[in-house]
Amino acid sequence: MENKRDYYEVLGVSKTASADEIKKAYRKLALKYHPDRNPGDKEAEDKFKEAAEAYDVLSDADKRQKYDQFGHSMGPQGFPGGGAGGFHAGGFTMEDIFSQFGDIFGGRFNGGGFGGATGSRRSQTRQRKGSDVRIRIKLTLDEIANGVTKNLKIPTFMPCQHCNGTGAKDGVAFATCNTCHGTGSVYEQVQSFFGSQTVQSTCPTCDGSGKVITENCQYCHGEGVVRQDEQVSFTIPAGVSDGQTLTLRDHGNAPRHGGRRGDLLVVIEEIKHPDLIRDGSDIIYNLMLDLPTAILGGSVEVPIIGGKARLKIAPGTQPGKVLRLRGKGLPSTEYGQTARGDELINVMVYVPEKLSEKEREAIESIKDSPNLVPSEDEKRRLFSKFKHIFED
Ligand SMILES: [Zn+2]
Ligand SMILES: [Zn+2]
Repeated sequence: MENKRDYYEVLGVSKTASADEIKKAYRKLALKYHPDRNPGDKEAEDKFKEAAEAYDVLSDADKRQKYDQFGHSMGPQGFPGGGAGGFHAGGFTMEDIFSQFGDIFGGRFNGGGFGGATGSRRSQTRQRKGSDVRIRIKLTLDEIANGVTKNLKIPTFMPCQHCNGTGAKDGVAFATCNTCHGTGSVYEQVQSFFGSQTVQSTCPTCDGSGKVITENCQYCHGEGVVRQDEQVSFTIPAGVSDGQTLTLRDHGNAPRHGGRRGDLLVVIEEIKHPDLIRDGSDIIYNLMLDLPTAILGGSVEVPIIGGKARLKIAPGTQPGKVLRLRGKGLPSTEYGQTARGDELINVMVYVPEKLSEKEREAIESIKDSPNLVPSEDEKRRLFSKFKHIFED
């Protein structure tokens, strides 16, 4: 039906590979086939997506177990009530892949704890996971340039302390589930192209726990979770971009009746700077230079991230010239590099619209002066200098 490659083969690891080996193998492939490194290369993009899909399944103990048991034949809809646990239909979007990166490229997000909690992914075979909580964080260019630590109260569903998140009185009021006899799974025969198959699914009565509550916890009314604010502190690395999502593992909602918490997804929103325009890791500033300084030279003050800088203006500076303040841009986050971009200053020259009588007289008195009118040669020289502006 499908000619998908085996996920282990895709990542080049053995069937018994550890979580760590799988992660390492994926990291290598993701870097190799990263679209930024292979612009316009469709094959690399497919490989990149294929690796991400394989990693999504093999890095999750629950999905990996199902894959080992049923292979690709289960398909995206194969898992009854799969929802978040099922395979992605129609492959991965780039956004899915990049949202994993907080975990995979964890090294970059350390300190504040992004991706730090990988240990908890080595979960038991069956573990429910709570839903993710998404928050938006507005950052100034200054904060983006330097990185910033945020300490926030996040409203989430937290495990109930009184019943240990189980929902049962004192965490112990349980009996064995009658539907699945404590196994947590039910089996069903289904017909497929390949004949009759046994499909395992989560017991609907106990939701896979194998146990049912005999008396509810009075504090959470049997839910196992309570609405509560959690104080979360995390560091956003320098150089993030607008719309980027960082994942803080296990700080989302706790599922009902126990299990692993979802993740906290932090979506970056860049607050527009009043004067500076961001272009990747470069910063652009449009400088409106006054006429005397453009002619005579001098120095001007320009805004930079986090302050101001003085800039020398050479005599005879033309409008359209681009000046560069090296290293005054943003750190580049590509593959953990620490290079900084530049601030590019577009020179424009301000031509006054109103003049006093005295000013007008002064200009009138020199307007026919030979150096104020370009010669044919001079016009050609300047035009060829700025030709690239029109050719782009
Ligand atoms: Zn409780
Ligand atoms: Zn059951």
